[in-house]
Amino acid sequence: MDENSLKPDKEPPVSAEDCNTEILPLTTLSHEQPFKDSEIRISDFNIISTATSQFRDKHFPQASDKQWNSWRWQIQNSYTQFNKLSEVIDVSTIDDLDFLTKSRKLPLRITPYYASLLNNSRNDYAIAKSVVPSKLELIVSEGEESDPLHEDSMCPIPNLVHRYPDRTLMISTGFCSVYCRYCTRSHMVLKDKKHYGTKAWEKSIEYIKNNPNVRDVVISGGDPLTMNDKHLEFLLSSLRAIPHVEIIRIGTKVPMVLPQRITKTLVKMLKKYHPLYMSIHATHPDEITPEVTEAVTRLADGGLVLGSQTVLLKGVNDSVETMKLLMQKLLKIRIRPYYIYQCDPIPGSSHFRTPVSKGLEIIQGLRGHTSGYGVPHYVIDAPGGGGKVPLLPEYYQGREGDYVIMKNFEGKTYRYYDPIE
Ligand code: SF4
Repeated sequence: MDENSLKPDKEPPVSAEDCNTEILPLTTLSHEQPFKDSEIRISDFNIISTATSQFRDKHFPQASDKQWNSWRWQIQNSYTQFNKLSEVIDVSTIDDLDFLTKSRKLPLRITPYYASLLNNSRNDYAIAKSVVPSKLELIVSEGEESDPLHEDSMCPIPNLVHRYPDRTLMISTGFCSVYCRYCTRSHMVLKDKKHYGTKAWEKSIEYIKNNPNVRDVVISGGDPLTMNDKHLEFLLSSLRAIPHVEIIRIGTKVPMVLPQRITKTLVKMLKKYHPLYMSIHATHPDEITPEVTEAVTRLADGGLVLGSQTVLLKGVNDSVETMKLLMQKLLKIRIRPYYIYQCDPIPGSSHFRTPVSKGLEIIQGLRGHTSGYGVPHYVIDAPGGGGKVPLLPEYYQGREGDYVIMKNFEGKTYRYYDPIE
C-alpha cells in the first residue's frame, strides 16, 4: 500500500488540541450537535439491544440508527465532559462532584454505547468505577509510579517496547475510545490522546525488520482499533511483509466498549493478515451484551484467535462470583480467558488494588469449579520491568520422600508417587 495515499485520520482526532478534554464548562450537549448525515458512513453493524435503545431514546433522542451504529459517531459523541456524564449517572454517589468539576487533571472519555451500561439494577456502579474519574486518583501511595513497568527504559526507539527476547510491543497510538482509570500506560495515553499516524511507525517497523529474533509483535496503544481501516491495514501489511514475524497480536478494549467498530469490512481486512490474535480487555460480565456478542462473533468467524485480559479491580470485579460469570460469558462468545492482572501501581490507583490473596482466592474459586478453559493466569507484572509473574494457589504442597503432596480444588490432600531419580 502506498503510504502517501493515506489521508490524515481526522476521526478520531489527530492533534492534542482537537481532543483536549474539558470537564467544565459545559456549553452544549452532543446530541444538540449531531453529525451531518452526510458525514456518517453507512455501517454494516446493526445491532441495538433493548436496553441500549432505551438509553439512546433518553439521552440521544436525535440520533438515528445509522448514527448510533457508526463507530465514528460514537467516538465523536463520547462523554468527555463531566457535567454531561452526570446526566447519565448519579456520580455524586461515587465521589466528590465539587472536586471533579474543578479538576482538569483527570480526562474522561466514554462512548455513548458504553455509557448505556453504567447504571445497573444492582446499583453498584461496577463498570462506572472503572471509567469515571475519582478524587481518589489524587492519593499517591507507596510503590506507585507513572511508568511502573519501566517500559520507557525498554524502548530501543520511541513507542516500541522490547522486553522479551522474541516479541515486541508497538505503541501504535495514544488514543482510546474510553480511558480506564487504572491504565498502566496512563502516563502516555492520557497525555497524547491522539493518533500518531503512519509516519511515526517507520522506525518501529524498521527495527523489527532488522531484528530476526522478533517473531511476535503486539500492536497496542492506546487502542489500535480506534484507528481507521486504512491506517490499521498499513501497519498490519507492513508487519506481515517481514518474513520472521510469525504472529501479530492486537491488544484492544474496543470490542467491549465500541462494538460498532467491528464492521464486516474491518474483519474482511483483518483476515488477510493471519495468524492474527486479539487480546480483548474485558472488565465485568455486564459488558457481554448482544452488541458485544455480535462483534466478537464476527471476529471469531473471521478466524482471529481471541483471548481476554482482565484487571482485578476492587469494587468492580473482585469476587469469585463476578469473575466466574465473566469467564463463563467470555467462553460462550469464544474468547478464551487468558490473563487476570493484579492492578499495576500507577499513581492514584491504590483504591483499585486488592490484596494479592484476593487474586489467589479467585483462581482457587475458578479452578475445578468451572471449565479449565475458563481459568486464566493470574499474574503480577513485576514492578521495574521484571515481566509477568504467574501466581498460583498452593496446590503443590511439597514432597514426602518419593511422593509429591498436592491439594485439589476442594482442599483435599493427595499423594502422587514421583520417585526421586
Ligand atoms: S483501553 Fe487500554 S490503553 Fe486505553 S485507557 Fe484503557 S487500559 Fe489504557
